Amino acid sequence: MNCNLCHNDIKDKITDNLGKIYHICSNCGLIQLDKGFHLSIEAEKQRYMLHENSNENKGYITYLNNIITNSITPFLKPGNRLFDFGCGPEKTWAGILKEKGYNISTYDPYFDNNREWSDKYFDAITAIEVFEHLLSPAVEIEFLSSHITTGSFLIIRTMLHNNNRESFLKWWYREDPTHVSFYSETAIMYICRTWNYELIQIKNQCEIVLKKK
Ligand SMILES: [Zn+2]
Repeated sequence: MNCNLCHNDIKDKITDNLGKIYHICSNCGLIQLDKGFHLSIEAEKQRYMLHENSNENKGYITYLNNIITNSITPFLKPGNRLFDFGCGPEKTWAGILKEKGYNISTYDPYFDNNREWSDKYFDAITAIEVFEHLLSPAVEIEFLSSHITTGSFLIIRTMLHNNNRESFLKWWYREDPTHVSFYSETAIMYICRTWNYELIQIKNQCEIVLKKK
């Protein structure tokens, strides 16, 4: 199969103790769950509804506020135009940013399928716990990058693997059946080179800030 990030021909794969197969790209470091193990669209949507990402979940709000402290306020000011890609059913993240004075647009293929943003550019695009769900990262990054101009940011929250197969097979992050794409620092650097971003930060192996060159 071909890598869905760098299009390299992938020969390498690993199988976990449940028989799930993962393809490992030797070029960009992306690890992808084999297509045969992907959920149906309906099952995937049901699974997203189960995520405890609601406004009532205090732990989740604290978690989002930490992302704002680490990855938003150092780079952006209230009034800036933000686009939240994959906002989910509750739009909790977008709601918090709005409260803080950011001008925010949202999109989600399942829960907020609007096109109001389609002719706009943004000071930042955020993708919080989205990249691990992407079946075709190259297509999506190309699309996101077409809405970002020089000096603007792509802010991603996804957990990175460390290229160690043994620890990948023990990793809890794989357990969510909707997680299909796993990136490493190498993959982030590939994204920077290919779509012309400067790597600004990788914090806690999961909070990634890229700036368009
Ligand atoms: Zn690749």
